[in-house]
Amino acid sequence: MVEERFDVIVVGAGPAGISAAYTLARAGLKVIVLERGEYPGSKNVMGGVLYREPTERVIPQFWKEAPLERPIVEQRLWILSRDSVFSVGVKSERFAQEPYNNFTVLRARFDRWFAKKAQEEGALFITETVVEEPLVHNGRVVGVCTGRDQGEIYADVVIAADGANSLLSKKLGFHPEIPPDQISVAVKEIISLPADRIESRFNLEAGQGTTIELVGEATKGMVGIGFLYTNKDSLSIGVGAMVSDFARTGITPHDLIEELKSHSAIRPLLEGGETREYLAHLIPEGGYRTIPPLYADGFLVAGDAAMLVNTVHREGSNLAMTSGRLAAETVIRAREKGDFSARSLSLYRKLLEESFVLKDLKKYQNLPRYLKSHRELFTLYPELLSGAAIEMMTVDSTPKRDKQRKIWREVISKRSLWRLARDLYHGWRAVR
Ligand code: FAD
Repeated sequence: MVEERFDVIVVGAGPAGISAAYTLARAGLKVIVLERGEYPGSKNVMGGVLYREPTERVIPQFWKEAPLERPIVEQRLWILSRDSVFSVGVKSERFAQEPYNNFTVLRARFDRWFAKKAQEEGALFITETVVEEPLVHNGRVVGVCTGRDQGEIYADVVIAADGANSLLSKKLGFHPEIPPDQISVAVKEIISLPADRIESRFNLEAGQGTTIELVGEATKGMVGIGFLYTNKDSLSIGVGAMVSDFARTGITPHDLIEELKSHSAIRPLLEGGETREYLAHLIPEGGYRTIPPLYADGFLVAGDAAMLVNTVHREGSNLAMTSGRLAAETVIRAREKGDFSARSLSLYRKLLEESFVLKDLKKYQNLPRYLKSHRELFTLYPELLSGAAIEMMTVDSTPKRDKQRKIWREVISKRSLWRLARDLYHGWRAVR
């Protein structure tokens, strides 16, 4: 095992860790990345939409060589009820042109490439190595202990980018075991399908991609979301919900994805496809109010490990990359001063507060509570919405005004005017 001393130890080779390592190595710092997987990305799961702008802040024009699946030209939201779907979306030629908006990726390929770029800058990656605990001396983090023989490694700063349920943060008492109503479990399948069939089924030109977010019936009344994304020659379909909801309902993640795949709106899109991978992963969804301390003497936390996930916009990789990059920039400045104390590293929090990362999470800070206390958003409202749309679209010689009255009577019989107004008001307050 490596016995040298490093400027920085990065734990975890996901978007947060690799962005940090890339930025540090590029600035000439001696950085080591410790990853438990066989190679970077081998254990990583995401839907996966990769956002162009935050990635480009790490590697300009990365899309010219990165292993991407498809540039996304259309983003749809499908509100599923039992036998119907209400859909909205946006498709634009602008998204099909350089510099693009975002892309679908498969993490096993993308992370491996991203790590290679950091290696080329001089970062050292050691894989198949589990970091078991931080080394603390006089209240200051001075390194980490790995599961290997003589596995102690020392550095001025350790950046924990070890993902959801971060072991390092837990060992340092940054956050206890994450409560089951602040973390969701998601399952995903990669289903092989020839490119031309994907393009005809999703109404796409060659090489272009679509994303569909799936809400409502997709999670059977549990707080969560599903997705269906197009890759080059496969589809990624998945669904996730709060761990506490799975425990409460007794539904299993496997049953949930099977039901989703058999929904009448989804089934024809998957037909003839073959499942080539089945993956599961945790998503920290507690939001702004559950963010742990982000720094200590000789220590910074980035990405999922710091609960930096914006579920409303299914954003995680971009918050991870941005926080990893800002953690690295903080260390670079601390090094110039020769001061790695908590006070010096507190710059990290300031940089995050100035960026979209904490601004967005703060904006939605009341949303997790709102969703938990308004489960009708996942059950009743999708049914009412589809019912209303079907009524208006059904041509049966009934005057339209009568149809409107019928819809309104149906809505009021299921949810009083007072509760409707309250749901709307609280919803607005949660996202304004
Ligand atoms: P991770 O990507 O989880 O990386 C952490 C790394 O640390 C891993 O490589 C892991 O092996 C390693 N590690 C962990 N513990 C140790 C240890 N003790 N020692 C050594 N190594 C360790 N985000 C989006 O932007 N777009 C999406 O479409 C999207 N869809 C998602 C769909 C699903 C099903 C899931 C689960 C998540 C999705 N996300 C999405 C969220 C996104 O995947 C995460 O926010 C992002 O991966 C966080 O990056 P990270 O680097 O912080 O953590």
